[in-house]
Amino acid sequence: MGAPHEQEIIWQGIGVSPGIVEGDVVVHWQNEEEIPVRDITPAEIPSEIARFEVALIATRQELLEIQQKIAGAIGADDASIFDAHLLVVEDRTLIDEALRGLERDLNNIEFVFHQVAEKYCRTLAAIDDPYLQERVVDVEDVTRRIIRHLLGKSREELHKLDRPHIIVARNLTPSDTALINRELVRGFVTEQGSRTSHSAIMARSLGIPAIVALPGVCTKTATGDYVLLDGYSGRLIGNPSEQTRFAYGQIERQKVAVTHQLEAIRETPSNTRDGRHIILSANIELPSELDAVASSGAEGIGLFRTEFLFLNKTVPPSEDEQYESYKLVAERCSPHGVIIRTLDIGGDKLMHLADQTSEDNPFLGCRAIRLCLAQPELFKTQLRAILRAGAHGHMRLMYPMIGQAEELRRANALLEECKQELAGRGIPYLHDIEVGIMIELPAAALIADQLAKEVKFFSVGSNDLVQYTMAVDRGNERIAYLYQPTHPAVLRLLAMAATAAHDNGIWIGICGEMASEIHLTPLLLGLGIDEFSVGTPAVPRIKKALQSLEFQACQEFAGRAASMTDPQEIETMCRDYAKQHYPDLFDL
Ligand code: PEP
Ligand code: MG
Repeated sequence: MGAPHEQEIIWQGIGVSPGIVEGDVVVHWQNEEEIPVRDITPAEIPSEIARFEVALIATRQELLEIQQKIAGAIGADDASIFDAHLLVVEDRTLIDEALRGLERDLNNIEFVFHQVAEKYCRTLAAIDDPYLQERVVDVEDVTRRIIRHLLGKSREELHKLDRPHIIVARNLTPSDTALINRELVRGFVTEQGSRTSHSAIMARSLGIPAIVALPGVCTKTATGDYVLLDGYSGRLIGNPSEQTRFAYGQIERQKVAVTHQLEAIRETPSNTRDGRHIILSANIELPSELDAVASSGAEGIGLFRTEFLFLNKTVPPSEDEQYESYKLVAERCSPHGVIIRTLDIGGDKLMHLADQTSEDNPFLGCRAIRLCLAQPELFKTQLRAILRAGAHGHMRLMYPMIGQAEELRRANALLEECKQELAGRGIPYLHDIEVGIMIELPAAALIADQLAKEVKFFSVGSNDLVQYTMAVDRGNERIAYLYQPTHPAVLRLLAMAATAAHDNGIWIGICGEMASEIHLTPLLLGLGIDEFSVGTPAVPRIKKALQSLEFQACQEFAGRAASMTDPQEIETMCRDYAKQHYPDLFDL
């Protein structure tokens, strides 16, 4: 524990997996392996090559073992993300370059290989492609394993640490995260990463509190330091004072009390005080999150972000593979529904599968439905898998990033083609699958009255809607202050979409992060949102918020908010209103 005279220090990152934990830091692989260098004679080359081959085989074996372990522990879907690691061990560019370097430089193979791998990583990192940049972590991880085998060092794996601790790392690879011993690892903090990085996805599915995007944390902390990790707010506190620990202890107790309260309402319907039923569903990225959804009290799944099944795949999953995943989700959610979103790749995600050149403005580029329409075979494979899975539960389908009716019609034409193909093959499928669209572009909200005539429902993707309305890149920290969900322009677009939906007899949901913000529940409810789809951990809180509110009063409240001009004032007013109605939830 930090000595009493040591100053408390607070660092701010992004909380990606909720929970508060304290403990000793273990800095993971802060110091790279010392790689010895020695000259060799040409006569030693064959024995160096032989050592290299043995290390490659051993590493491959090790990765296969990890993959099997993970498949057993958290499912084959998460384990498949090691396919990319296995490809690194077989990467001819890397191996051939190392062999050439060996002959040219006449140094020991671990030194030559390390240099080659470093250069390779630098080259990948410099390419303006998020997928290739993400691959750097895989190559580094595999390189480290190969070098450890060459050096004959036993691996200092995270799962071998035998005392409770909090991991601090530059980045955790999927293999590190998946092998974490849940009994001993209280939480983790990484310098890199985002909400959608591998480690964040894994942390959520493993239920481990985590913070990402905390630059320099590996050097700011050292193994043995005592820290407090707040996975809700993304705050990491070094040498927490007695006062802070006491305060967090209180917070923890309040959270436990509120959590108990929330458990009691888990099976109750999400009705407002004046009896309006709001569908409260969950967002998922991977089928492995289904257990958490089941125990959260969610009424089905309002957003299944299917692109996560494509993570770390060099080729997209086949129709059958996709079908199996979607079917599992449909069956497990039954009798509730699942809204499955078609591929949202492009932009900042999975560009390698899009097989296209880089774009200057990827968020304004060939993303989501645009990319699917440009690559009909990729799209149709997914549509067939969805239609087939639809026969096993209550499944709906929605297209992301629709900006005009023509895109919707073209997507539907491909959907019809898929139905014909399945019928021709005699394969069962859901004939009358309901189709909806995401409202993510201001253009879509502005023509919502036209679009509403051609779909069964809307779901607002507020993460993108705010980004495109305000022209603020949702991931750019420098202009984050301009990313304002309570801006009057956003509220007007939401109101327009809701009115258009209701005037045309369809319902409207929201599945962006706004839906999980308890202070925005009265506003969204009052604007006429019929369905809230939120991250699983937020389900109980939003249920409690909805049950504490009156629809009619919220309509009046939303009307007042809509007449105001200052986003900050609207935000404050929302917070005050929400605090009046469910103060306890603000302790969570
Ligand atoms: C959104 O944009 O709000 C949304 C739910 O989609 P994603 O975050 O996957 O872009
Ligand atoms: Mg979106």
